[in-house]
Amino acid sequence: MNNEDKCDKFAAINELARRRGFFWQSYEIYGGVGGFVTYGPLGARLKQNIEAKLRELFVTKLGILEIESSVITPGKVFEASGHVNHFKEPMVECVTCNKRFRADHLLEEYAKKSCAETEKMDLEQIQKALKAHGVTCPECGCGFKNPQQFLTMFQTTIGPYSNAKGYGRPEAAQGIFVEFNRLYVMAREKLPFGVIQIGRALRNEISPRQGLIRLREFTIADLEFFFDPEEPDCCLLKDVENETLWIYLAPERQACSEKIVKVTAKDALAKQIICSEWQAFFMAMAKKLLTEIGVPAENQRFIEKLPWEKAHYATQCFDQEVYFDRWGWIEVSGHAYRTDYDLDCHTKASGADLRVYKEYPEPIEEEQLVVKPVMSKLGPIFKGEAKKVAHLLTKVSAQEVASALEKDGYYMAKNYKLLPEHVDVTHEKTVSRGKRFTPHVVEPSFGSDRLFYAALEYAYGLKDDRVVMSFPRAIAPIQLGVYPLVSKDGIAEKAREIYKQLLNEGFATELDEAGSIGRRYARADEAGIPLGITVDYDTLKDGTVTIRDRDSWQQVRSLIKDLPKILHSYFQGKTNFEDLGT
Ligand code: AMP
Repeated sequence: MNNEDKCDKFAAINELARRRGFFWQSYEIYGGVGGFVTYGPLGARLKQNIEAKLRELFVTKLGILEIESSVITPGKVFEASGHVNHFKEPMVECVTCNKRFRADHLLEEYAKKSCAETEKMDLEQIQKALKAHGVTCPECGCGFKNPQQFLTMFQTTIGPYSNAKGYGRPEAAQGIFVEFNRLYVMAREKLPFGVIQIGRALRNEISPRQGLIRLREFTIADLEFFFDPEEPDCCLLKDVENETLWIYLAPERQACSEKIVKVTAKDALAKQIICSEWQAFFMAMAKKLLTEIGVPAENQRFIEKLPWEKAHYATQCFDQEVYFDRWGWIEVSGHAYRTDYDLDCHTKASGADLRVYKEYPEPIEEEQLVVKPVMSKLGPIFKGEAKKVAHLLTKVSAQEVASALEKDGYYMAKNYKLLPEHVDVTHEKTVSRGKRFTPHVVEPSFGSDRLFYAALEYAYGLKDDRVVMSFPRAIAPIQLGVYPLVSKDGIAEKAREIYKQLLNEGFATELDEAGSIGRRYARADEAGIPLGITVDYDTLKDGTVTIRDRDSWQQVRSLIKDLPKILHSYFQGKTNFEDLGT
């Protein structure tokens, strides 16, 4: 397929999306604003169905807790999490037209630099590379001012106080971490447990030009799975251990090789390609999700992030990518091993203890180094401040004090100089029944809008020059179309009766009475309706209808009274089209 064809497919999907009401750019009557979309009636349903699939696989079946927290977040949360320092992208501004662009994206597009290369560059290197490759403003062809880092979080103030800084959350994860103590109670104070949040995220993208792929407001599904690092086994691994994952490993990427390893989840763990069992489990589940929304296995892969590409909180990180006709490989979900990073950050910044208590199977006897102040010596020297000095000693480690006394002959507790005779250094036996520790976290994070676009692109097909959207039946926005062959002789009335009956059965059903039957079928195929039910003269005689298959255009005849049973079974994936005939 040449470039022009590729552009056509993207353009065709976008045209169809606008015309049939999947999605379109928001605020069209004001000229449209980049990075914001409105999902129309078909799109909103499709998106809900994809999220329902995600919930089915990741929430209901796994017993994950789901919460909804606020989008506007106090500044201190994102200062503590590191986002205020790290959530930035390099930006350049044209000297003439003042248009602003993401500098790394310009280098990728016009200098054919890989994202692995650009992520590593500092601003100076970016500037040099832009000059060296003669990259100029895509709008007017002029040069750029010095690049700068742009904070891609939306900033606001909370209430009328300019110093009460707030941010629109760029991810939903922090809303889970800050509630950890409550959620742990709700999980009956047992590890492991997971919490998911599916909601809006805001990122002030510099120049979003990729439709649904890069939005300024999108839906994110962040699942934070908490576990004890000393008990890292995944009890659910067995269910997916033979799932084959296609992985583009970091060393291959660094060597500019295109080699992909194909390993089962089990082997990926055995070969230490993936470090955490839970992470391998979620990656296999993510592959399942993408397959169930219609992306073939060979168009999915995982790519291991290079050290400098990883988010500031992640140790090991993989992106799940899908191959898109126009854009090539694009991330649809991220899989990060976040360790105890976030809970620790919030413990330090808020003062709330976000650790959990773990009881040992048997009490453990330990010898502990203890440093105690000798008040009879501190009193005469530090007088009224002796108590304060003694208190300072409770805030530091005994080992630190003992080492300093041994090495330097004194210990500085802030400005107070303590000599060996001021403290008693002893070893005491203690019995410990348990310990407090910070759980580790593995996070799969999906973008609903990219899943949505993947579902659209992989459903899109042409049959006899007509568009057919072959959505998997579990996510099709409308399940059934009901069509009276003609509108006279009681046929329309019968069709309406069947339509109501199917609605009452809980099927997403549409009644289409307008135009020739051929045009109605064509409209239904474009909307991706898996089955059409046509009511004709025979219906009135023998109580049967025609059921038409969207993908093969084949037809079978079935009894109206059997419809609820056979259609439920079909949409639950238990039977095929051929089984629908009576
Ligand atoms: P990240 O936290 O950057 O790994 O993002 C998590 C997921 O959110 C990605 O895998 C994407 O599916 C999605 N995502 C990130 N940024 C955007 C965006 N600007 N527009 C739409 N989806 C996005």
